[in-house]
Amino acid sequence: MNKNIHDLIIAIDGHSSCGKSTVSKDLARLLKIAYIDTGAMYRAVTLYALQNNLIADGKIDEEGLKASLDEIDIRFRTNLNKGTNDTWLNGKKVEEEIRNLEVSNNVSQVSALGFIRKRLVELQQLMGEKGGVVLDGRDIGTVVFPNADLKIFMTAEPEIRAQRRFNEMKAKGQNPSFKEVLKNVKDRDQMDSTRKESPLKQAADAVVLDNSHLSQKEQLDWILDELTEMGVSFEAVYRT
Ligand code: C5P
Repeated sequence: MNKNIHDLIIAIDGHSSCGKSTVSKDLARLLKIAYIDTGAMYRAVTLYALQNNLIADGKIDEEGLKASLDEIDIRFRTNLNKGTNDTWLNGKKVEEEIRNLEVSNNVSQVSALGFIRKRLVELQQLMGEKGGVVLDGRDIGTVVFPNADLKIFMTAEPEIRAQRRFNEMKAKGQNPSFKEVLKNVKDRDQMDSTRKESPLKQAADAVVLDNSHLSQKEQLDWILDELTEMGVSFEAVYRT
């Protein structure tokens, strides 16, 4: 059967900092489909909580955060041609801010809260239900879209992931220590896979992509090959 890419839901889950969003963005731009960065949504809620003194010394004011849920407006502005996908929180672009170490160090606690997950999962389902979309996160293939057409579970060695995140932060003018970044990567893996609510785990029908030693283009080709095998029709101009 010939399937059209604009009807499909592609779910990309996996460990922290293994390049899920890079490959998802590349895929979305190439295939002219939408991209939903669900990690950015949890990060935006965390930023909101930090800015509004709802997290102090790593402790979350859960009641306060619950009462503020309706005040948190998260949107994406995507430019498919430029391949940019910016996160906006309450009318302000926060794409850079949500990636800082303070947010990274608190986001796993925020994302472990059931009422936060419920709200964001509903939003993600609404955003993606029509298809023609790639979503990346931790629970897309298991909880958000268990019937996704293609499920990919991405991983890479922790040191390689930390090095990539470290280089990225340096390039943005931040000054982290490698040890700190590696610790954050490992801590988030641990918290994300052991939490009670929707822990990170590979869906039974997901295909594993270990990109420890793959270039960006090789990863993209790998996914395009999966789609071709599924009988999906698409135009990917760069491959000619
Ligand atoms: O993908 P990213 O690393 O930006 O995600 C930040 C954090 O958000 C993760 O460490 C995880 O705690 C949480 N997350 C989640 N479920 C998702 C996406 C992200 O719990 N679907």
